[in-house]
Amino acid sequence: MVKAIVGANWGDEGKGKITDMLAENSDIIVRFQGGANAGHTIINNYGKFALHTLPSGVFYEHTTSVIGNGVALNIPVLFNEVNEIVSKGVPRPKILVSDRAQMVMPYHILFDQYEEERLGGKSFGSTKSGIAPFYSDKYAKIGFQVSELFMDPELLKEKISRVIAQKNVLLEHLYHKPLLVEEDIFRTLMEYKEMVEPFVCDVSAFLHQALKDGKTILLEGQLGTLKDPDHGIYPMVTSSSTLAAYGAIGAGIPPYAIEKIVTVVKAYSSAVGAGAFVSEIFGEEAQELRVRGGDGGEFGATTGRPRRMGWFDCVASKYGCRLQGTTDVAFTVVDVLGYLDEIPVCVGYEIDGEVTTDFPVAYKLEQAKPVLKVLPGWKCDIRGIRKYEDLPENCRNYIEFIEKEIGYPITMVSNGPGRDEIIYR
Ligand code: GDP
Repeated sequence: MVKAIVGANWGDEGKGKITDMLAENSDIIVRFQGGANAGHTIINNYGKFALHTLPSGVFYEHTTSVIGNGVALNIPVLFNEVNEIVSKGVPRPKILVSDRAQMVMPYHILFDQYEEERLGGKSFGSTKSGIAPFYSDKYAKIGFQVSELFMDPELLKEKISRVIAQKNVLLEHLYHKPLLVEEDIFRTLMEYKEMVEPFVCDVSAFLHQALKDGKTILLEGQLGTLKDPDHGIYPMVTSSSTLAAYGAIGAGIPPYAIEKIVTVVKAYSSAVGAGAFVSEIFGEEAQELRVRGGDGGEFGATTGRPRRMGWFDCVASKYGCRLQGTTDVAFTVVDVLGYLDEIPVCVGYEIDGEVTTDFPVAYKLEQAKPVLKVLPGWKCDIRGIRKYEDLPENCRNYIEFIEKEIGYPITMVSNGPGRDEIIYR
């Protein structure tokens, strides 16, 4: 059986923790999209880790961690991450890399930087990990698949030279930067080949067999619905689909194999990068939530930059859950809100004088003003509570109010960053 773990919002909802937790009873964990541009923070008995490329199930000896074909694979980042966790005492993980995954090339990272520089104040707020240039090349059919590392070297050189001819025009005339050299790129690719060779696998065939054998497979999403290139706040989105449905493509499994879709929803909002954020708060109010948020504050796992903060957004989350095809909501970081006397929740958007609960297209979102409902806080620490009935009444009311507004069942409540800090309903 396959379960997807995905985000309803802008990312950073706590998918890493939920995946790490569900991995205990799973066999295989697959990353199916995205790259090293976002991170998951995980706290377990080995310590605290920020993973960017490895799936969040790498901490168990019984799991296999898979990089699916849909991922933007940065080979040095992947192996640095493996070495880092091993150096902290985690058993060397079993890793498989899809032969159909494409590689982030060093020039993708450069192009990402150059383009953000060129755009200046109008930039997308990219993490400059090369993700947008990578996916652009993939769909322009000038990307490099892992499988191509193993083809005739002369043909590979020919392809490199064809691809960089185009890149060099931009480097020379648009960005005024040093040009790419075929030999350097070939050498880099040969280094990548050496690193990745022992792990390369026909992942879809492997997963096909695993499903036949009755294994449990987790698909771990990166970012959330609102960063999806089709259904998100285009163009302030990421470059690969963040939806559970894409898990079928990015892992190479049948769509109907995905039986459970756990959508992770955070008890307040945070976002990174540019774009409309209707329930955003500012100033001291935002800073307090930012500092208290998550585990050790709401600061990017990859970049360390402060996240934008906001109240819970029912409109965005209902939409986010719907597009994921949610079967279960994991409602996270509820413990953080224990300091507030009152908790505002965004229940509607006012656009041109009319209130809607339907999430609009991006340009209308820019005009939306939040309609807030204020709920009473519970003013205590709820960490350590393991039974739903033991939560303070106002906390249960908050959870149940949001469940009703978004229309999907909250079956898990996370009240701390640790693996066992979870309340099942
Ligand atoms: P992801 O990208 O969706 O995996 O999310 P991140 O890892 O970027 O952010 C989630 C942060 O919240 C991490 O630092 C987690 O350790 C932390 N976290 C997850 N669940 C909880 C929770 O229930 N309570 C608290 N306090 N922190 C949590």
